[in-house]
Amino acid sequence: MQKIQSGEDYINSLRDRGLIVYLFGEKVLEPVDHDMIRPSINAVAQTYDLAISNPELASVISPFTGERISRFLHVCTSVEDLVNQNKMQRKLGQLTGTCFQRCVGMDAFNSLYSTTYEMDEECGTNYHEKLKLFLTEMHKFNFVVGGAMTDVKGDRSLAPHLQEDKDMFVHIVNRSEKGVYVSGAKAHQTGCINSHWMIIMPTMRLGEKDKEYAIIGGVPVDAKGITYIYGRQSCDTRSMEGGDIDVGNAKYGGQEAMVIFDNVFIPNELIFMDGEYNYASMLVERFTTYHRRSYVCKSGVGDVLIGAAAAVSEMNGVENASHIKDKLVEMSHLNETIYGTGIASSYQGFKTKSGCFQCDDMLSNVCKHHVTKLPFQISQIAQDLGGGNVSTLPSEKDLNHPEIGVLLKKYLKGNKKYSSEDRIRVLRLIENMTMGRNAVGYLTESVHGAGSPQAQRIQIGRMMQLEYKKRLAKVLAGINIDSSKDELVNELSDYFERVFKV
Ligand code: SF4
Ligand code: FE
Repeated sequence: MQKIQSGEDYINSLRDRGLIVYLFGEKVLEPVDHDMIRPSINAVAQTYDLAISNPELASVISPFTGERISRFLHVCTSVEDLVNQNKMQRKLGQLTGTCFQRCVGMDAFNSLYSTTYEMDEECGTNYHEKLKLFLTEMHKFNFVVGGAMTDVKGDRSLAPHLQEDKDMFVHIVNRSEKGVYVSGAKAHQTGCINSHWMIIMPTMRLGEKDKEYAIIGGVPVDAKGITYIYGRQSCDTRSMEGGDIDVGNAKYGGQEAMVIFDNVFIPNELIFMDGEYNYASMLVERFTTYHRRSYVCKSGVGDVLIGAAAAVSEMNGVENASHIKDKLVEMSHLNETIYGTGIASSYQGFKTKSGCFQCDDMLSNVCKHHVTKLPFQISQIAQDLGGGNVSTLPSEKDLNHPEIGVLLKKYLKGNKKYSSEDRIRVLRLIENMTMGRNAVGYLTESVHGAGSPQAQRIQIGRMMQLEYKKRLAKVLAGINIDSSKDELVNELSDYFERVFKV
């Protein structure tokens, strides 16, 4: 196989893989040519094309092969690397208006790089070197690598080993001299069918009795024993209706599927954790720290929605009304709040023992927590500015009908500078992003991706250092302070350490 360079190379590389993919109760013969799946493939292809049109932003020189590869495969060795990930994510959100599906793999490589290094140091294992060899292979071909983390979890009150059905968490079911076999299922797997490889990882902190669940390994997406069941998205069948107006964003979409593993083999050389249950929490925490600030992707998508709201205001002839301008300012303020906190997390990045840079935990959680709310507020304003037509427009077929089409074009006319069809296209884009196919990524995925809102509140609560802050207040209020507690309150959280480091 040749190294993948362009979007076109990438799309061709996905053909003829014989994946077992179910959609609408039937096997999909070739996902690449399926009208409902193709927009999600186009979104990933854009990550390759951006690497060609803007190599500084979306590619790097591989330290392993010396060749140019996607930034999505790069392990960060500086603050600048972390920041550039965010800039690339915003740009791709702008270009696709949706989820481009590659950040989980990128964040998995980075968190695994430092975790395996520290695991080896303490346990005498050799996972880090194996990971580097795996990375080198992925760099050689410039592959798409997904991260498979979210288990289906069964009864949420029970640890993995206490579940009635052991398969509620992916686990080792068999061993041979050459490797291990795993079974179970991962839910909501972003871009899994559009990847070449995936890294299976535990989904949460594990205890001693959960050892068989403490498995991390690389698996080709077309490995024997894997079945994919495609997730439905709101209005998804519109892309199978033949036109390109009603769908709102005809070219790009996201992808989530359930992945079922039935005795899937992982060879020893691709195993990066096997039983070291006490390192599962380190991996998961580092991963979520990267991933929660990766959600600046939504600020790029937000840019598109703000643009659509401004365009439709102009098409409606109200762009000069002061309340319209103010609403666009509000949308921008909310959108930049997401970006600001995400990129700040990257700017507060620091070096781990492995040399890989980790971003700031507090700010990445604040970023993702904003993402669980602010896109809804931005969407509400977009729907406000779009007007009732966002939800009541007739279909593309009616618009193109020889008799009623003429009438619709007459009665759906706004500002004479624009055609009725252009106005309808922008309204459909707003519909797509706020309640159609791409609302899946912009709204619901924004709530639950990289952990649901409460997960971020727990982390923020852990790091908020109330004792330290109470002391600050008491000193200024002139209250007598018990200085024996000074030691406690002077122990700053990592976050404040980094804030004050000059
Ligand atoms: Fe990347 Fe955003 Fe998609 Fe997650 S939702 S994979 S962060 S584009
Ligand atoms: Fe996600």
